[in-house]
Amino acid sequence: MRIALNTQILVGALSGVALGLLFARLGPDAGGVKQGIFVCSLIGNLFTDLLKMVLVPLVFTSIAVGVANLRQHRQLHRVWVSTLGFFVLSMALAIALALLASNWFEPGKGLSLDLFQQADRNIAAKHMSFAEFIAGFLHGLFVNPFAALAQGNVLAIVMFALLLGIALVMGGERYRNILQLLQEGLELMLRMVGWVMRLAPFGILALLAQLLATQNLAVLSSLAAFVGVVLGTTLLHGFVVLPLLLFLLTKMSPLRFFRASREALITAFATSSSSATLPVTLRCAEQHLHVKPSIAGFVIPLGATANMDGTALYEAAAALFVANLANIELDLAQQMIVFFTTMLAAIGAPGIPSAGMVTMVMVLQSVGLPAEAVAILLPIDRLLDTFRTMVNVEGDMVVSLLVQRVLQDKA
Ligand code: ASP
Repeated sequence: MRIALNTQILVGALSGVALGLLFARLGPDAGGVKQGIFVCSLIGNLFTDLLKMVLVPLVFTSIAVGVANLRQHRQLHRVWVSTLGFFVLSMALAIALALLASNWFEPGKGLSLDLFQQADRNIAAKHMSFAEFIAGFLHGLFVNPFAALAQGNVLAIVMFALLLGIALVMGGERYRNILQLLQEGLELMLRMVGWVMRLAPFGILALLAQLLATQNLAVLSSLAAFVGVVLGTTLLHGFVVLPLLLFLLTKMSPLRFFRASREALITAFATSSSSATLPVTLRCAEQHLHVKPSIAGFVIPLGATANMDGTALYEAAAALFVANLANIELDLAQQMIVFFTTMLAAIGAPGIPSAGMVTMVMVLQSVGLPAEAVAILLPIDRLLDTFRTMVNVEGDMVVSLLVQRVLQDKA
């Protein structure tokens, strides 16, 4: 009997966690553990490499074809507006949740400042002002497409493909052949994604085993209150807020949604990268959630770099945590600044592991908090990244369903 891939992936993930915990327990010196971790890293890397291999042509063809298929301009406009609207809405909810919970539980209050001062001395984080961030972000949007494709610069590829798609729409029949070429290219890429997915159960097992075996789980408990607030609100957002939003607007049951999106959620959890997960997300959206390719092909790749609920939530909670550690009281106006810079920081963060840590510097600095404080969070970042990436990817799939719903209503 053939077991469904969905189930195989779940079994792979659970076995990976168990194996990782076993490795951690035995310690690196026990016989075979080093070799085991090495084999896991080989298989895990192979899996993510394969995903990244198809990523660039997939994003390019999917966005260009997605936009071109929206044909009439009125519809294109609606997709744009509703996509951006839902991105902002879902991230705003996530940040509000983080700010509320952080104000309520006040993680970091009264924690020994040694930790903070030590971090301060040891690591000098790169300073990045708000203006610099915006300038860098805008500058990165439009890049020579061949360079962007070669470097795997997802945001720049998205922008070029968007423009190309619009040009194809405006040109109509004239560019029929190019559109067909792109369409066939997209189909080919999705076929290859299907092959890569056969490796997914093993890849996920290996990635999770390696992560748990090589991270120091004990540091999580030293920052227990903060970890509790972040994980609690991330899970609340992922399991209550987003499914509720989806249910209210589309009537899709949460159970159905999670069943259909499981492959992508587990892959996001294991790879901690929205970009690497993108091929799987697109597959889930189109094949399991039945989002039209013209909508999914546009919303999902854009969302993988711009829509990050989990990251937004994490950065807002972290800013308030650092303020508490440094004994700085942030008033309402400052928290509003945190709100807006966090959203920009999440939009600007690329979908790769720990990207949120880098753009967080900007959030801290926007309200005068010491950027060096990221050093305290670094040791726990990879572990928290699993959950926030999962919610980032979940948000993309939810928004694609919401956009589809809006278009149906207006059709
Ligand atoms: N790892 C996250 C992602 O790829 C970004 C982050 O670090 O928050 O979605």
